[in-house]
Amino acid sequence: MPPRLKTRHGPSKKTKIPLKCCFRPRIACKGAAVAPPIGQAARGGIAPAKRDRGVYEAVERIRIGVSSCLLGESVRWDGGHKRDVYITGTLARCFELVPICPEVAIGLGVPRDPIRLVGRAEAPRALSAGTPELDLTAKLSAHGRETAHRFSDLCGYLFKSGSPSCGLGRVKLLPERGGRPAHAGVGIFAREIQSALPMLPVEDESRMAKPELRATFLECVFAYGRWRTLTASGLTVQGLVDFHGRHRLALLARQMKAAGELERVLAAAGRRSPPRLAAQYGALFMKVLRKPATRRGHTHALRNALGCLKRVLDREERKELAESIERYRLGNLPRVVPLTLLRHHLRRHPEPSLDGQTYLECQAPE
Ligand code: SF4
Repeated sequence: MPPRLKTRHGPSKKTKIPLKCCFRPRIACKGAAVAPPIGQAARGGIAPAKRDRGVYEAVERIRIGVSSCLLGESVRWDGGHKRDVYITGTLARCFELVPICPEVAIGLGVPRDPIRLVGRAEAPRALSAGTPELDLTAKLSAHGRETAHRFSDLCGYLFKSGSPSCGLGRVKLLPERGGRPAHAGVGIFAREIQSALPMLPVEDESRMAKPELRATFLECVFAYGRWRTLTASGLTVQGLVDFHGRHRLALLARQMKAAGELERVLAAAGRRSPPRLAAQYGALFMKVLRKPATRRGHTHALRNALGCLKRVLDREERKELAESIERYRLGNLPRVVPLTLLRHHLRRHPEPSLDGQTYLECQAPE
């Protein structure tokens, strides 16, 4: 699943995260707007258990913002929560989760009157259902901008679906003068976060239930983490070429025209200033990666990897691998089977052209 990890005992090529570790996530305090620090005293969030730190060393700094109610905090308008088992279980073991509740942060109590989105989809207003003259739009927007600035180190964000503050789309929107609601709104806070951090991978918990969307989101989170590391100390052309090379198969699996544009940006890299290059390449890269790869795209990437190994595999091994890819293409095998076979052969026959390919390393934690 994860990219290359470093342990405390030195670099390890294929260290795997022990997904069955018995870490129980500690959920932040009730009602906190932004939960107080947990696990990492000064930074906040849910951190992997201490004994796993060696294994998680490379990913422990990957922080994902999460709507507090999804982590089981009782911060919803009715005093309840929407704890999500996958997020608080599997994801909490692999990432540092940062609980954020914008409605509590702007001073609304628990319980409180619910908020309604009213008006046009492009510029809705967030009004209190109990006191319609109470317009919370400006406060929620300002808090979104402040949060984006304060947590600019996040590598992903999981929002609560359908919320007038946190919803990413399809939020209930009431017409100004009454009538039937449309499910066409975007939460005020979520909109600000996305506009302030356009490259940040975002998803909501309802879409995370679909395996392909979940895998794509997590792939984007890891990729964005690597991008942030690459650009943190200043982008170089060689660094960008290496980065692009490591994602060759992941981009190939998308089969998008935009992936070709990335090559063109790369070809002109020497003629652009580093900040302009980073902005142009980064935005395009995340745009391509955000699109879930299709079965056809995955087959293309897997066959490409097989092609790279052709010289070193014997006839039987090639046949077995080609058959498993074909059976995946036909929907008779999960993708993990040809991927595992590929990894197995790569361990035996290291192949420079596949060295460090994130596509072969990255798997969504289950
Ligand atoms: S959806 Fe967002 S605003 Fe509403 S309770 Fe959850 S975290 Fe708070």
